[in-house]
Amino acid sequence: MRYAIISDIHANLEALERSLGAIDEVGVDEILCLGDIVGYGANPNECVDLVRKRGVTSIIGNHDCVACGKSEPNDFNPMARSAILWTRSTLSRDNKDYLLDLPDKREIEDLLIVHGAISDPDKYIFSEGDTLREFELMQNRNICFFGHTHVRVFYVLTNDEIRGFYDDGLRINKDGKYLINPGSVGQPRDRDHRVSFLIYDDERETVEYTRLEYDIASAQKKIIEAGLDRRLAYRLSLGI
Ligand code: ZN
Repeated sequence: MRYAIISDIHANLEALERSLGAIDEVGVDEILCLGDIVGYGANPNECVDLVRKRGVTSIIGNHDCVACGKSEPNDFNPMARSAILWTRSTLSRDNKDYLLDLPDKREIEDLLIVHGAISDPDKYIFSEGDTLREFELMQNRNICFFGHTHVRVFYVLTNDEIRGFYDDGLRINKDGKYLINPGSVGQPRDRDHRVSFLIYDDERETVEYTRLEYDIASAQKKIIEAGLDRRLAYRLSLGI
């Protein structure tokens, strides 16, 4: 099986369309999304519609939770809060119901997919230290994909040693355990503005990252026209 793993679309339709177009060129068996389909960007309905239409297998992210009314934005900063409340008022009832029904983690074959972490969907994995508990919780599984930080990275546990890597890809070794973040489609925060996702091939046992330019100017224009905080538009060009 060949999988495309995408995450943190954040209502950025231009970035999502660009990613799906490139994924179609490669050809995959299944597309998995690690949550945060909406929030920050100007096209929440269009992005949820497209994810549904394309049969993407998704889980719920913290922004999706607030957008559909499953939780409140108590721990959101003011910019994120105002954007998510706008998103909540903009999303159709049908799209809210779709988000409400998404699980917060899934097992697909021998893969685990989570939004933030296995121990807590809202936890950020930023360093090797943050992965200790998560590797324990993986038990006998050897690959877990996570998102939430919007930073492309993977952590490898071999021989009781954990190391983080920012390489363009990796080869899966059956003796290792892997926590892998595909980066963000719609709001990358690793100082690279290009969309980020990955292709995982379980027969070749490879993970290959992709970064692509997309029509940022259109996404930014829509954010400003929607009356959302302008900083949400500017940050897209900076990759922060
Ligand atoms: Zn996110």
